Amino acid sequence: MYLKEIKNIFHLELDVVYGKEEVNSFFYMLIEHYLELERFILALEPNLVISKEEETPLFDALSRLKLEIPIQHIIEKAHFMDLDFKVSKNVLIPRPETEELVRWILDDVLNDNTDLKILDIGTGSGCIPISIKKNLPKANVSSVDISDNALQIAIENAKVNRVEVEFVHASILEINKLHQKFDIIVSNPPYVRELEKKKMNGNVLKHEPELALFVTDEDPLLFYRKITEFAVHNLEKGGVLYFEINQYLGKETQQLLEEANFSDIELRQDMFGNDRMLKGKLA
Ligand code: GLN
Repeated sequence: MYLKEIKNIFHLELDVVYGKEEVNSFFYMLIEHYLELERFILALEPNLVISKEEETPLFDALSRLKLEIPIQHIIEKAHFMDLDFKVSKNVLIPRPETEELVRWILDDVLNDNTDLKILDIGTGSGCIPISIKKNLPKANVSSVDISDNALQIAIENAKVNRVEVEFVHASILEINKLHQKFDIIVSNPPYVRELEKKKMNGNVLKHEPELALFVTDEDPLLFYRKITEFAVHNLEKGGVLYFEINQYLGKETQQLLEEANFSDIELRQDMFGNDRMLKGKLA
């Protein structure tokens, strides 16, 4: 079959669900993944024919996309900070907003040559600690997660990306202390309220882990309160806490840091202009 015909079938079947542009991007990710074809191939060879055998994984992927299975689950990887991460239904797919948080941290410590001790809370795929360690090889990076299944993926991701990160199995709601203090604590905890579910896409709702995403409408800042308190006791003097936050709760989350006497507090927007990141220094 002509490759362009397959592309047309993708659009016919999927544009209603995802829109044309996203379907384009899925199609090119799939031909790159399964057939090692670059995205400009159709411009170069508009009449490229692919074999029956080569078609099969593309049509399998098409059926799975129709069920709103995330593309990253189909190709079993996600891109984050120029690295590849394995993902599964047990971990949140790394988001571009979270890359912005990692870049903020890296920018802040650019000229710091000490062996920083860094902790990530609620690590999921491990994208935050692994990309930090990759960029700061001298840092001593640890992370905790409540989910054994997530930790297994994170450990695998550390291995594949050839970095050393210490992984601790624990619930942040239950621990008050770790074996050492840290210069930086970072977290992207669950923050989506039940009332926000209506606005979410099917692929997130049906296929990503609730444990990593949702909090109750009554106490949406549960994790932020606990992590702020944890940071007060586990940051070195002058240590810094970084959060990814719910865009609708910027002020409230900032207030938590103020009440805990953090200084130099800064709220930042993500690339979409939403309040998304927060930072504060332990006075
Ligand atoms: N930003 C994620 C989403 O929109 C949520 C991440 C989280 O809850 N920590 O699905």
